[in-house]
Amino acid sequence: MNDTIKKVVVVGGGTAGWLSAALLKKVLGQTVELELVESESIGTVGVGEATIPPIRMLNNVLGLNEADVIRETKATIKLAIKFENWRVKGEGYFHTFGSPGRSYAFCHFHHFLNRARQQLGESSSIWDYDLNYLSAIEGRFAKMDVTDPILDMPFAYHFDASLYAKFLRKVAEQAGAVRTEGTIVDVTQHPGSGYIQGVRLANGREVTGDLFIDCSGFRGLLIQQQLNTGYIDWSHWLPCDRAIAIPSERHEHTLPYTRSIAHTAGWQWRIPLQHRNGNGHVYCSNYMSDDEALAVLKNNLDTAPLADPNFIKFKTGRRRKQWNKNVIAIGLSSGFLEPLESTSIHLIQSAIVRLLHLFPHQGINDSIMSEYNAQSALEFEQIRDFIILHYHVNERDDSQFWRDVRNMDVPERLRHKIDLFRQNGRLFNEHNDLFLDASWLQVMQGQGITPQDYHPMAKSIPQDKLIDMLKTIRKIKQDPVAQLPTHDEFLAKVCGN
Ligand code: FAD
Repeated sequence: MNDTIKKVVVVGGGTAGWLSAALLKKVLGQTVELELVESESIGTVGVGEATIPPIRMLNNVLGLNEADVIRETKATIKLAIKFENWRVKGEGYFHTFGSPGRSYAFCHFHHFLNRARQQLGESSSIWDYDLNYLSAIEGRFAKMDVTDPILDMPFAYHFDASLYAKFLRKVAEQAGAVRTEGTIVDVTQHPGSGYIQGVRLANGREVTGDLFIDCSGFRGLLIQQQLNTGYIDWSHWLPCDRAIAIPSERHEHTLPYTRSIAHTAGWQWRIPLQHRNGNGHVYCSNYMSDDEALAVLKNNLDTAPLADPNFIKFKTGRRRKQWNKNVIAIGLSSGFLEPLESTSIHLIQSAIVRLLHLFPHQGINDSIMSEYNAQSALEFEQIRDFIILHYHVNERDDSQFWRDVRNMDVPERLRHKIDLFRQNGRLFNEHNDLFLDASWLQVMQGQGITPQDYHPMAKSIPQDKLIDMLKTIRKIKQDPVAQLPTHDEFLAKVCGN
């Protein structure tokens, strides 16, 4: 099809729909018309509260003021995720957005520490050199205005995703997006090409367009129900297939990190917001019934519930093609990876950015579609492998679930990454991996892999100098923490309380 793209129709008004509308309209302006159709009677999935640092860049591009976002979405600061009971019951570790030590060309900081631990009796851990960790455990936060990258403290937010979607709606409508309320009951296709021509609403109106963004959630109204695109199922690697979410009353003190607590057949999230806590239990129905899973969650709420449980079913995997004909699936319609590393909203963001890079204004062609699909597939697979790592490298022997995920075969690229780190202490990134070396390092060590070797550069420093260097870096990282306000004080100041 070589028709120019004059009008984009976004189907769905959840986080994916409004984020797509806001960003496309903000960047493309009057060059395209944009109409978003959403159905209040169908509603949204209603979960999704933790984010990762690139969301701050997105908000900047959208021209959002950070204090407004924090205030209006009841956000708190997220410096890290604490994984509890994942390696063994009763222990925990952090995956922070920071990185330990300082960076050196050719040789990561952890090699120096490994040498000191293996040969010189050093007992500190990588987290003692990580400002995000040190601030998180003290419950402190402020935006650091620093020039030396050693004091960088990357952060993201926990927020109420439905409030964020409302916020985005304002941005999109101000930029000229048109919202149509209505339930889509039928879809029409061009007879020859099979391209989508329009969606018919219950009131009889047909909304037509040149390019359709399918943000209709798990149902995949256009990409699957209409175009039958197919799904690549990854549940043999990530077998959890259900979640139950229950909001509960807020804590007196809000933690600046997410808690991820492993249970016998899955894990539980605890996400602190200003006005409540988000809680949910992700589990595998082959190993645990819905009743048992609900009981586990209720027994592990540490504040009073505020609503009835929301039961959600999913299948881990991705659409065979994210872009098929003139439909691009963004959000839950494009695939699903469980929220262990809070990547779904990020996948929405990167899908729209990818579309903007490749926007087919002169008409859709195969090369642009296949480039988009190849990039999307790789991104999904890289995140998938990082999530599998958390499950696979465990030492729990208290349930069949944990034994089975430990013994399963994993994707070849992940197997190689694990072996490379275990045998050599080396990490590698490829093709714009979302999770950089510091993330892999923390999760591999946290899950119990101790590298057998370190880089030769770590030997180039005399022993006493190495111990002094470590002490100095610890001090540089620890000194600022005491000066920071508490996380609650920071939020109160931003929100004007
Ligand atoms: P939905 O929210 O389901 O929206 C679908 C939209 O399509 C709605 O507006 C609906 O009205 C509309 N629609 C559907 N059918 C029709 C029709 N026939 N006619 C008209 N309109 C229609 N992400 C994170 O980043 N961090 C997290 O911590 C996180 N936690 C999660 C926990 C769980 C258990 C789950 C399942 C997801 C989580 N996510 C998280 C993902 C996040 O919730 C979603 O990525 C995000 O909400 C986007 O959803 P969506 O907009 O694709 O779909």
